[in-house]
Amino acid sequence: MRRLAILGSTGSVGEQTLSVVEEFPDRYRAVALAAGRNVEKLASQVRRFRPELVSVADAAGAEELRRRLPGEGLAIATGAEGLDAVAVHEADLVVAGLVGAVGLRPTLAAIRAGRSVALANKEVMVMAGALVLREVRASGVGLLPVDSEHSAIFQCLSGQRPEDLARIVLTCSGGPFRTWPAEEIERATVKDALAHPNWEMGPKISVDSATLMNKGLEVIEARWLFDVPADRVEVVVHPQSIVHSLVEFRDGSVLAQLGLPDMRVPIAVALAHPERLALQMPRLELARVGQLDFEAPDRKRFPCLDLAYAALAADEAAPAVLNAANEVSVAAFLGGALGFPWIARTNAAVLNAHLARASTPRLRDLRDVDEADAWGRACAREWLDASGARA
Ligand code: MG
Repeated sequence: MRRLAILGSTGSVGEQTLSVVEEFPDRYRAVALAAGRNVEKLASQVRRFRPELVSVADAAGAEELRRRLPGEGLAIATGAEGLDAVAVHEADLVVAGLVGAVGLRPTLAAIRAGRSVALANKEVMVMAGALVLREVRASGVGLLPVDSEHSAIFQCLSGQRPEDLARIVLTCSGGPFRTWPAEEIERATVKDALAHPNWEMGPKISVDSATLMNKGLEVIEARWLFDVPADRVEVVVHPQSIVHSLVEFRDGSVLAQLGLPDMRVPIAVALAHPERLALQMPRLELARVGQLDFEAPDRKRFPCLDLAYAALAADEAAPAVLNAANEVSVAAFLGGALGFPWIARTNAAVLNAHLARASTPRLRDLRDVDEADAWGRACAREWLDASGARA
């Protein structure tokens, strides 16, 4: 029986992880769950999975949870300390399923406590990839990618020698605006951006998929997860989302991982590694798919992709600055305060401002990451105020 702690249990990855747990009750037990403000959903998860520890955003949430679960002697933690408590709770694997910068501290806490991590929270590697890699090596834990593209690469690289790797090719669905002309993208609404063609995901990552910032963040994630230079990580648009990514070796041979777009597969790969779970799900029938298309990403209509390469070429703090700017601009867009094209404009302006300032070339510790993150957020807010950018 493997004990799982789940950071972000009420989010998309958290829920799908719990559905895998439910399918294999003899193999997995969810012993600690960290949620944010969705107390109603967490209460129903507690009734279904009987964890030993849960965490919610604040004291009011803890009180509401107690009210919803009368008579339960459940341990409830709150806030950032609560996330850390779940991260270091006695478990075999921590599923890092939070969204955004908030996941960095608890994920590092889990690694330092010797827990292997199934990582869906890509911002952890985007903000502090160099630091996380160092900590993973020092503690000797496993770091298993859950992001579908990175899970694909992980599977293709399994059993191969690192020195044989020539190139990583990340596939990208192209998002909901792949075929939209630039003028129409200018007027895209929140509803348009959230209508992802292939994957069911949370709102932040759906918007990131529409701008292609998600693919940019995944390029940064791949650079650190697989310790390859950025010029060996490429992106190809593949609208069907059947080929989840590819790896080319130095003899010219290319391996790809294919499957129907369902996050339970990469989650199951991370949970069971090096075994495989007999997941109940529809099978890939290539004859039914018929055709697999590939095209180069349009870097003009989707400028966020190149911002990621520019950040990687700059200094170790630049990806954290870019990520912070993107979190601010996407939140403003989702809140109706910002038009879609201003996400990319804000991100570009903040990255350029960072490149113009004197900054440390290396991330020495979490304080450097915090400084870059705070600076990026403040700069994005200032820029949005000053530019008068509106929905
Ligand atoms: Mg992905």
